Amino acid sequence: MDYQLIKSKRKTISVELKDGEVVVRAPNRMPKRDINAFVEKHADWILRQQEKRRAEQQQLAAVEKLSEAELAGLYEQAKAVIPDRVRYYADLLGVDYGRITIRCQKTRWGSCSAKKNLNFNCLLMLTPPGVIDSVVAHEVCHLVEMNHSDRFYALVTRICPDYRRCNRWLKDNGRLLMARVSDDPKSLPPEAIPLSGELGEDQ
Ligand SMILES: [Zn+2]
Repeated sequence: MDYQLIKSKRKTISVELKDGEVVVRAPNRMPKRDINAFVEKHADWILRQQEKRRAEQQQLAAVEKLSEAELAGLYEQAKAVIPDRVRYYADLLGVDYGRITIRCQKTRWGSCSAKKNLNFNCLLMLTPPGVIDSVVAHEVCHLVEMNHSDRFYALVTRICPDYRRCNRWLKDNGRLLMARVSDDPKSLPPEAIPLSGELGEDQ
């Protein structure tokens, strides 16, 4: 089996898949023979993961793209829904916020900048009940804690008790939703095109 080998000062050996390629991280002094044996031992797992990834890629490629009109509709819907939810959670925490921007993005559900501006993905309008609130609650909590510390998550789950379930849903299904947006930005409604360069923190 082919693999990329990265040797370092680490004490243990590990294998992972990166973009479908097998990457092995091993201690500097580990003999090639032992590394090969390790890879062989995990060959079944590696092949299973590669197969899973192929299936995922096929699924993503087969996803039906949203039309410009559909995206524009989601954008309008998000503009009507999200600011109210932001106000609700911000009031709950007694915090101020800056600008709210709705965008169509393929990588983020929301973000919060150091200037307290909030950014949300219009694709949230396609998620099941509860998920919009969980993302809004997450970003609003960043107005209090600009990090992902235990304190931050304690705050999020306090104001949004359903947070974990909703976050799980996004992790499991979010990529398929984002794949519904064409890679060609020209197919997006102009007002929903993501602006670049604003620093925020990912969710
Ligand atoms: Zn965050």
